[in-house]
Amino acid sequence: MAEGYVEYRNLRKSFGGLEILHGVDLTIPEGAFAVLVGPSGCGKSTLLRMTAGLENVTSGEINIAGRMVNNVHAKNRGIAMVFQSYALYPHMSVEDNMSFGLKMRKTPLQLITDRIKRAASILKLGPMLDRLPSQLSGGQRQRVAMGRALTREPEVFLFDEPLSNLDAKLRVEMRAEIKALHQRLKTTTIYVTHDQIEAMTMADLVVVMHDGRIEQVGEPLAIYDRPANLFVAEFLGSPA
Ligand code: ADP
Ligand code: MG
Repeated sequence: MAEGYVEYRNLRKSFGGLEILHGVDLTIPEGAFAVLVGPSGCGKSTLLRMTAGLENVTSGEINIAGRMVNNVHAKNRGIAMVFQSYALYPHMSVEDNMSFGLKMRKTPLQLITDRIKRAASILKLGPMLDRLPSQLSGGQRQRVAMGRALTREPEVFLFDEPLSNLDAKLRVEMRAEIKALHQRLKTTTIYVTHDQIEAMTMADLVVVMHDGRIEQVGEPLAIYDRPANLFVAEFLGSPA
């Protein structure tokens, strides 16, 4: 059997003595589009931030591509994360926002130019490269945040509720764009949302989370048809 690409083994997290992740065991295969879904406060962002190296591990293991990364610095994990708030630098142009991380990593200039050109073409950012974030719509800003993640050519993409700030119509469009991006690049992706419909329409693999635990993992239809317990059934609105 193929090794998981991102693996969590009995992963726990406490803040100030209060445990909020209670032993997560989960395997995400290479190339999958996994959606982590659950109510607000269940620990989704914490799990993602630990994966990215933005929070330390209390106990247990995180493995990426067969390597235990608990003590690997965020910038050496081969990961790029897209946040709900876009997290763009307001005083920098779109192009500078996209290249900043690569410059910090001392990436050769020609390579940076090539990658920005490629990301801009994929995400239709070409005409916007000289603009400031304040001159863009919400959807365009989120596309820049995705472009910035793309230029890092990560082994794993992490998305934390990237569409929550967009209106309903744009959200539907951006879901399709993110899926198309995945179809094209096949980069292993963990996408967090509290929205059941988003999870069911986007995921190859749905991971249902509740109160710091994983309730069920499976393909969308399989989970919908055979929810493991009452929480999953009610959360997804499965037929009783
Ligand atoms: P979700 O993303 O699913 O809404 P979070 O991972 O943000 O959930 O939070 C899970 C729980 O951990 C919540 O009860 C939250 O208050 C708590 N929490 C998250 N970050 C911190 C922190 N830095 N310090 C203390 N508690 C935190
Ligand atoms: Mg969150």
